[in-house]
Amino acid sequence: MKSIVILGSTGSIGTQCLDVIRQHKDRFRVLGLAAGTNGRLLAKQVEEFRPQVCGLVEAKEPLPLPANWDGGFLSGPDVLSTLATLPGADMVVVATVGATGLDPTLQAIASGKDIAIANKEVLVMAGELAIAEARKHAVRLLPIDSEHSAVLQCLTAGRREDVQSIILTASGGPFRRWDMERIPYATPEDALAHPTWDMGPKITIDSATMFNKGLEIIEAHHLFDLPVERIRVLIHPQSIVHSMVEYCDGSVIAQLGTTDMRTPIQLALSYPERLSAPAEPLDLAQLAELEFLEPDMERYPCLELARDAAHTGGTMPAFLSVVNEELVAAFLGHRIGFGAIPDLMAQAMERHTPIRDYSLQTIHETDREARMVARGLMGG
Ligand code: MG
Repeated sequence: MKSIVILGSTGSIGTQCLDVIRQHKDRFRVLGLAAGTNGRLLAKQVEEFRPQVCGLVEAKEPLPLPANWDGGFLSGPDVLSTLATLPGADMVVVATVGATGLDPTLQAIASGKDIAIANKEVLVMAGELAIAEARKHAVRLLPIDSEHSAVLQCLTAGRREDVQSIILTASGGPFRRWDMERIPYATPEDALAHPTWDMGPKITIDSATMFNKGLEIIEAHHLFDLPVERIRVLIHPQSIVHSMVEYCDGSVIAQLGTTDMRTPIQLALSYPERLSAPAEPLDLAQLAELEFLEPDMERYPCLELARDAAHTGGTMPAFLSVVNEELVAAFLGHRIGFGAIPDLMAQAMERHTPIRDYSLQTIHETDREARMVARGLMGG
């Protein structure tokens, strides 16, 4: 029986993680649940999973918690940190979004919890710190991202020193076939219509700009200790091949599956064991074809910018990731257009002087600087 804490239990990954646990109640026990603002759904989850502790970061109204539940309820800014270090937890699922997950993840690692990480910005912002801490405390850092889960599986086919490259696949998002002139005027509704994956709003916008794939290059670089130059991206519109590893003898190993996040979530929870399928099985005979295309950098300028940030290294990826968070929030709030995202991102990058050897404090300062620069560029 593995005791699990979920940070971000009411979001897209959090709810799918609970669905996996629901199917394997004999293997996993929910010890703690933390959510941001959705108290109503959190209360429902408490009713079903009976955790020891639950917490809501922003409690605007009293929670309709079940009367016959004797667990503890917390609210306020320390909820994520408290849940991340909960005594008795074997694993912490980090399903938060953006910079929010950074401190709680590092705290969970320091208290010896295995980590299943969906919050890719944590690795983008402070990958060196997270990996070093995980090594120091001998904890597992398991990716929930479908591409990285695929790479983890493909890496079992050979020796690390024989790996030539990692090939991350990308669906290309909703604008893959749009006229280039129309893309800058896309609305949040257009960008939220992802062709293959059902995900939260921030990551769906990042998929439309393909900044998401840039974040994943940096994530893979840290998780699998491979130089950025050896991590390639291919557009694969069907999203069936979740990623590949190429070995020095020319063999390419791929992992295939349906587009259901419960598969990588479940593998992160049970790794290295495999449990019965959480999703519909893949029916290859139903697929007419699998295509692979080189990404067009003119169509996806944010991918190029993310790659530049990855090459620069130091605090640049953290800076760019936070700038992007601000821009995506503004786009979703109809305050800037879709075309402004890459433009303002490029302008912001010119204003940051990256610091090479960073500490957590440096990253926090970079976070504040990035938000100020982004807001300044948006005119407020
Ligand atoms: Mg992904």
